[in-house]
Amino acid sequence: MTSPLGPAEIVVDLAAVRANARLLRETAGVPLIAVVKADAYGHGMVECARAAREGGAEWLATATVEEALRLREAGDEGPLLCWITAPGAPHAAAADAGIQVSAYDVAELDAMAVAFVDRAEPADIQLKVDTGLSRGGAPRSMWDEFFVRARAGELEGRWRVRGIWSHLACADEPDHPANDAQEAAFRDALDLAATHGLRPDLRHLANSAATILRPSARFDAVRCGIALYGLDPAPGEATDIGLVPAMTVRAPLAMVKMLAAGDGVSYGHRWVADRATTVGLVPVGYAEGIPRAASRPGAGDAAAHVMVAGKQRPLRGTVSMDQVMVDLGGDEPSTGSEVVLFGRPADGVPTAQDWAEACGTINYEIVTRIGGRMSRRYVDGHVAGGTA
Ligand SMILES: *Cc1c(COP(=O)(O)O)cnc(C)c1O
Repeated sequence: MTSPLGPAEIVVDLAAVRANARLLRETAGVPLIAVVKADAYGHGMVECARAAREGGAEWLATATVEEALRLREAGDEGPLLCWITAPGAPHAAAADAGIQVSAYDVAELDAMAVAFVDRAEPADIQLKVDTGLSRGGAPRSMWDEFFVRARAGELEGRWRVRGIWSHLACADEPDHPANDAQEAAFRDALDLAATHGLRPDLRHLANSAATILRPSARFDAVRCGIALYGLDPAPGEATDIGLVPAMTVRAPLAMVKMLAAGDGVSYGHRWVADRATTVGLVPVGYAEGIPRAASRPGAGDAAAHVMVAGKQRPLRGTVSMDQVMVDLGGDEPSTGSEVVLFGRPADGVPTAQDWAEACGTINYEIVTRIGGRMSRRYVDGHVAGGTA
């Protein structure tokens, strides 16, 4: 059967990304570093990067050098930062492409010194310090040595340290004491760097949550990812600045069938109809990033819902690789009807945040993992109802 909708797809509204960038830039009052790593959290890196720039983001950031190089291949020429490197990372290629790589430790600075040996001009780099996340970045015990090496590289003409930055562990919990502690530690790191003669013009600490909730953490720039895509970086906190979700996920209803009370649905019969009802088949599964947790046994109303024929309806039965079932409660929408898995709240459809709560995860994971065999389509401006 051919569906008037075509196959399942991810619709990304670039106007929303642009508007969100503009809002974040205005809220922050300092340059915006738009974080487009991991294919822009599943929204499409190159397209979202362009929209973010159009919305006023002065900088882009990726995790890996490879992602940053791909942005350059796609024609981006603006300030660009990245921070995940492993031994053997293409530092020279990054520097040649004008990408500012963040060094984590002395060993990486030593590797950069070797990589930059043939350069005519010093490379622009940044330094990452660990202020309490205990993930990437130089820990406090190494700061002294790290800054000494960084300054020596400047004096040797290998690089210029353009930025120093760190990352918060608990920005989505504004009252968590780690926020004050990390911000104080970051100021200590900046002071120490200054005593070693480092004069970076870009000091940055805030992610999306801190950009909105913690003005003192904005420094010279803010790094926003999730909020750029219109999702709430700190659910339950006062983060509403008018962001709009950019992603809508839709699929055609592939089949509708009647069930009698007692009929079991999908693998393991983990859901058994307790009454006569109708169920619909949605042709996407965990291969598309639909978490199996979206329809746990006994989830009841807490299961993820999808919008079909004007109503939000629960997923039922085990999510399989290629498909999932939805309880239509006796309704019989025609096959090919639109199923909106999630989108923007103004459309009355479930949101990525609703899905995150149903699945016991965060909205970041829902949007970043969505994909598989679904195609992605870009629109510029949204038509209400999720049918853009
Ligand atoms: C992913 C990431 C960000 C963006 O975080 P959001 O919470 O999505 O705004 C900022 N900084 C670093 C270092 C990151 O890894």
